[in-house]
Amino acid sequence: KQPVHVIGGGLAGSEATWQLANADVPVILHEMRPEVKTDAHSTEGLAELVCSNSFRSDDHEYNAVGLCHHEMRQMGSIIMKCGDEAAVPAGAALAVDRDEFSGLVTKALEAHPMVTIERGEVPDIPPADWESVIVATGPLTSESLSRAIHKLSGEEELSFFDAIAPIVHRDSINMDQAWFQSRYDKGEGSDYINCPMTKEQYENFITGLLEAEKTEFKEWEKDTPYFEGCLPIEVMAERGRETLRYGPLKPVGLTNPHQPDVKAYAIVQLRQDNKLGTLWNIVGFQTKMKYGAQVELFRTIPGLENAEFARLGGIHRNTFLNSPRLLDDQLRLKADPRLRFAGQITGVEGYIESATIGLLAGRFAAAEYHGQSFTPPPQTTALGALLGHLTGGAEADTFQPMNVNFGLFPPPQPREGKRKIKGRDRKLSITERAKVDMAEWMKKLDQ
Ligand code: FAD
Repeated sequence: KQPVHVIGGGLAGSEATWQLANADVPVILHEMRPEVKTDAHSTEGLAELVCSNSFRSDDHEYNAVGLCHHEMRQMGSIIMKCGDEAAVPAGAALAVDRDEFSGLVTKALEAHPMVTIERGEVPDIPPADWESVIVATGPLTSESLSRAIHKLSGEEELSFFDAIAPIVHRDSINMDQAWFQSRYDKGEGSDYINCPMTKEQYENFITGLLEAEKTEFKEWEKDTPYFEGCLPIEVMAERGRETLRYGPLKPVGLTNPHQPDVKAYAIVQLRQDNKLGTLWNIVGFQTKMKYGAQVELFRTIPGLENAEFARLGGIHRNTFLNSPRLLDDQLRLKADPRLRFAGQITGVEGYIESATIGLLAGRFAAAEYHGQSFTPPPQTTALGALLGHLTGGAEADTFQPMNVNFGLFPPPQPREGKRKIKGRDRKLSITERAKVDMAEWMKKLDQ
């Protein structure tokens, strides 16, 4: 039987390789470094961390990424095992010595009898005799492979930049100020959440946008084409103080039921971002403002005074697929099911999220190799919530990369007669439910 080929020895590819090899599947791992370099990596080690050395919070009771760590450890993750071994003091977070971490992952994979590591770029869609392939080439996928994937997946479906508008947890929006309505009552008539601004609030908001601290593009990002359709909001504001009032903040076709006689000067709209209806993105608000400045400014918008953000806005160089449209529920490309995708290229964001999708892709491919099926983890777990988001939960039309967060989980049901669960209690009830469901699922996995 043919080995499984994994392309890319980053966080996702290393994890996928480990999962396959431990399931007795021969794997060839193709890593282009050091022969071909990327703009962000600087070593030839596998699972190199290109920027921060943090895996973020390790708290599995009140934090979604911490819960993800916990589940990954249960699944025998190499990224978590080496991360724990290379840990450095970082309070409630898990941070690692990056060289030690990458060295440990590289050594473990090199020593595994089922793994062959081949150095060199895979420049094109692999030949037909590679029967099972996991593409885990990351946000900086080499140019020629990107071009080939672009062609295979359709022009519209592979992005080279993420232009992320901030995403807000629905239950933190003040509906005494905001209201549901579509412009001119089109569509379902109530598809958007609207936040009204007075002239004074609008003027202050524009001043805030223009004065806020911004992050700079990295030198190598400057050459990547930048789409007029997703200009940062502050760049639109720089074109004129009224530009936004004629763009995403136009106050027409909407009536505020809280104050039907007062005409809003500008209206900020939020659009549903996931099928569960727990996450909403602020339309047109992609931005290069620094995170602190975003929180401060966006909370001046009426209705968003107490907004909690599932993620803040950003714009980076990033190659990623429109997974909800292109991939099936086992991460296979519908147009060529021999190819599975994993890691940041599937539209997750972050080291741990990338490794998580690598782990799941590895498990799917291993089951397929042995002629078995692999039932994905339930959506109430961190692994299942992230997978579900990519393969059906997220809205394809507005798909942008996502970290794991509590908005991806089905909301916990209050006990009969009890009030909605909120705040820390809500987080704890999600993680407790996840642990029960994960244990139940893992029991079946072993049978
Ligand atoms: P990678 O880890 O990038 O691995 C992909 C691998 O594929 C690379 O080793 C690459 O050399 C190889 N490759 C590419 N093309 C080919 C090819 N054609 N043939 C063979 N090999 C190939 N996330 C965080 O959580 N924290 C951060 O601080 C952070 N900072 C970031 C900074 C930058 C500049 C970038 C670009 C991303 C950052 N990220 C960060 C996101 C981070 O890259 C991902 O979370 C994570 O590394 C992605 O894992 P991956 O396995 O999908 O890709």
